Amino acid sequence: MTMMEEKSFTCPVDGEVFQDGIIISTNQMGQYTDFKPVVGGLFPFPFYVHACPVCGFAGYEEDFQAQYEDDFKKWVKSELTGELESGPLYGGLKYLLAARCAHRLGKTRREVADLYLRGAWCAQDEEAPELEARCRKEAAVHFESALAAGEIDAKERAPIVYLVGELHRRLGDSEAAGAWFDKVAGEIVDSQEQSWVLKMTGIQRENPVDTFPEELGQ
Ligand SMILES: [Zn+2]
Repeated sequence: MTMMEEKSFTCPVDGEVFQDGIIISTNQMGQYTDFKPVVGGLFPFPFYVHACPVCGFAGYEEDFQAQYEDDFKKWVKSELTGELESGPLYGGLKYLLAARCAHRLGKTRREVADLYLRGAWCAQDEEAPELEARCRKEAAVHFESALAAGEIDAKERAPIVYLVGELHRRLGDSEAAGAWFDKVAGEIVDSQEQSWVLKMTGIQRENPVDTFPEELGQ
């Protein structure tokens, strides 16, 4: 079960003080095929990230402790504040804002991709299909560029290539999904330890499922 408490945050861009929940504990019971955790009770991911309700600055807790250049602050006000009007400030939008901040701040493509992926998980939970699709597309784009830039360790490449295929599959683009699923076998570096990736790719290509079968141990 998910346990949380309230915490006060001070926005490093405009000094706004606001409250948001933080997660004290949660439990994972399984995993969806896009690596979204299956949890008992409240989905915790919206509360791992925080967003200023006035200017739209967003990030993890430690991002609120950092100092930022005036240039960045100006960018937040001109580019992000408007995004606040696109919907309620739930997890999906908080991650989208955090991903845009991370991208602007020059964090790795992988970090940006992870934020968009989490945004897609939250938006799905929040039944915001347009935001979910936007986050999935951005996650795919950034994971693809992280792969191309060599940011992903050899052992992680096969699962990430599978994930890019799965993101396209969930976006309804079976052609792109198939093309990425085709690349998975070529990325396997440990055939025993990574056999689940190949099995899962086969399942999603032939007869897709929503959660990882238990026997694959993911
Ligand atoms: Zn702010």
